[in-house]
Amino acid sequence: MNEIQINTIQSLLEAPKKIAIIGHKSPDGDSMGSCLAIKHLLDKHGHTTYVFMPDAHANYLDWLPGSTSILNYQDNQIRIEELLSEIELIFTMDFNSLNRVGDLQKVLEQKLQENIPFVMIDHHQTPDDYAVVTYSDPLMSSTSQMVYHFMECLNWDSLLDKDIATCIYTGILTDTGSFKYRNTTPTTHRVTASLMEAGADNLKINNNIFDANSENRLKLLGSALKNLRVLKEYHTAYITLTQAELNHHHYQKGDTEGFVNYALSIEGVNLAVIFIENSDEKIIKISLRSKGAFPVNQMANKHFHGGGHINAAGGRSHDNMENTLSYFQSILKHYKNDLTYE
Ligand code: 5GP
Ligand code: MN
Repeated sequence: MNEIQINTIQSLLEAPKKIAIIGHKSPDGDSMGSCLAIKHLLDKHGHTTYVFMPDAHANYLDWLPGSTSILNYQDNQIRIEELLSEIELIFTMDFNSLNRVGDLQKVLEQKLQENIPFVMIDHHQTPDDYAVVTYSDPLMSSTSQMVYHFMECLNWDSLLDKDIATCIYTGILTDTGSFKYRNTTPTTHRVTASLMEAGADNLKINNNIFDANSENRLKLLGSALKNLRVLKEYHTAYITLTQAELNHHHYQKGDTEGFVNYALSIEGVNLAVIFIENSDEKIIKISLRSKGAFPVNQMANKHFHGGGHINAAGGRSHDNMENTLSYFQSILKHYKNDLTYE
């Protein structure tokens, strides 16, 4: 954060306030980690905070400190609107546009109309301009890492405790693919070291996230891998999962997290995509990943109503699976040169 931003934040947080903290739809490790970390920090600084998510988080994140206090808008619409009527400040975490919060969008736009100040902390490119402080840095591993730097900028280091460190560590761990992606910098590792010193238990966190599979999830992964197709000519691999396949394996929210990375792990594959049918929403949810320079956020934005980062993005199709796949294959030829690299 620059000096002006720090000063603005300091004056916003001078006296105790009622603060709402908002995460994005289908909250992942970084969304949950950053929201809960800033919640614990602000609580310790004397504020009263509420974390509101557009929809429920996956079970595999249930153990995060503070997660039981989260209200999701799908299940608690009236309560959230009641609480928001008293809110004096709003933090939006890990997204760059209010269209990432589903039905909460119109409620938040109402708060903007009422001149309630917003603070954005986020690491996606091209942030929208709705906040009085836009702390945006696309070079950061995760929004959770930015919460650590936010804490440093405000000289709040003494507030860091085991719970905060655990939340931040979780967001960094999940958004860097276990410290593997290009967004992992020496600073990321230095921050992580401080988090461990503050009590983050790396073994326990890794166990909670990666070694808590259900049998159903692993069998669903089996189905996904059976559906894997490789398009060698385009250095592309994709996976499909229909609603019937999800039902067959008693799909729970979060079960397909990370499946797309198996497609990306194939030698020579630079673009990996998973198409997941969602009959309730009548969409195909699409997750895109790339190795190297191919910007999947541009592909998601241009063709699938989405966006994200250069190497990890998401979007959706309103067509059925068959037509979505034909469309995907038809656009690939335009990207053939961009996808051909070592
Ligand atoms: P995932 O594939 O795990 O759902 O999402 C990967 C990344 O893409 C997320 O961290 C998020 O930045 C972005 N993303 C996913 N879905 C959407 C979407 O519908 N719209 C936009 N703008 N970004 C998305
Ligand atoms: Mn993130």
